[in-house]
Amino acid sequence: MVHFVGAGPGAPDLITLRGAELLKTADTVIYAGSLVNPALLALCKTDCAIYNSAEMTLEQVLAVIEAAERAGGTTVRLHTGDPCLYGAIREQMDALDSLGIPYDDTPGVSSFCGAAAAVQAEYTLPGVSQSVVITRMAGRTPVPEREAIAAWAAHGASMVIFLSAGMLEELQAELLKGAYTASTPAALVYKATWPEEKVVRCTVDTLAETGRKHNIRKTALVLVGSFLAPDYQRSQLYNPSFSTEFREASR
Ligand code: SAH
Repeated sequence: MVHFVGAGPGAPDLITLRGAELLKTADTVIYAGSLVNPALLALCKTDCAIYNSAEMTLEQVLAVIEAAERAGGTTVRLHTGDPCLYGAIREQMDALDSLGIPYDDTPGVSSFCGAAAAVQAEYTLPGVSQSVVITRMAGRTPVPEREAIAAWAAHGASMVIFLSAGMLEELQAELLKGAYTASTPAALVYKATWPEEKVVRCTVDTLAETGRKHNIRKTALVLVGSFLAPDYQRSQLYNPSFSTEFREASR
């Protein structure tokens, strides 16, 4: 059996209870060494076989899993944040299906949630934006043309841009082609929830300059949108003049 597990954004106590339990009992752990906090490996059994997938191909990962299965053990495949975002889990699941190896998936706290916590913000503010766009700039992995940053930026919604801290100059130009203006608030969040976390607030037109100044080139998220500004409307849910399923309006 293979358990895909979300490790969370960095702080070791942000893994789920279920994820921690699976790590404690696994015979083999394959972790994404580029971003998973190695402190989590302290949970593993002393005789657990541990592999760093940053140095492996998909074929090598599968070979380790197959050998572990033959030996009758369980494998944890530990991905950073939540495995469903930029985790390359689909190709592993499909391969496991072909090999007849069962698996399940334990979600984790994605770094976009860790970043919101770091800036103490809410992406979905009434009167500002009710949508969060999670996307990336094209790198070695292409992005479909219809999903270009400029196309998303046209909505002016809250945006979280992954895997793009090394391309801030290009990102800034793309964002300005949409509904954002030079003064739309933005933030760079480096290693959210790690001890070395850095949060730098800026505006869309100063993203590249801010990245250079604070030496942020990787392991960072770019947050963009008016959810980072002071103005919004209060919620209806907690408004005294609104009745809900659980509470009568007071007047
Ligand atoms: N599955 C992960 C994302 C993996 S892609 C998740 O749910 O978060 C790797 C990218 O995620 C990095 O390039 C960076 O943009 C972002 N990232 C991962 N952990 C991060 C963290 N703690 N702080 C800021 N960005 C992070």
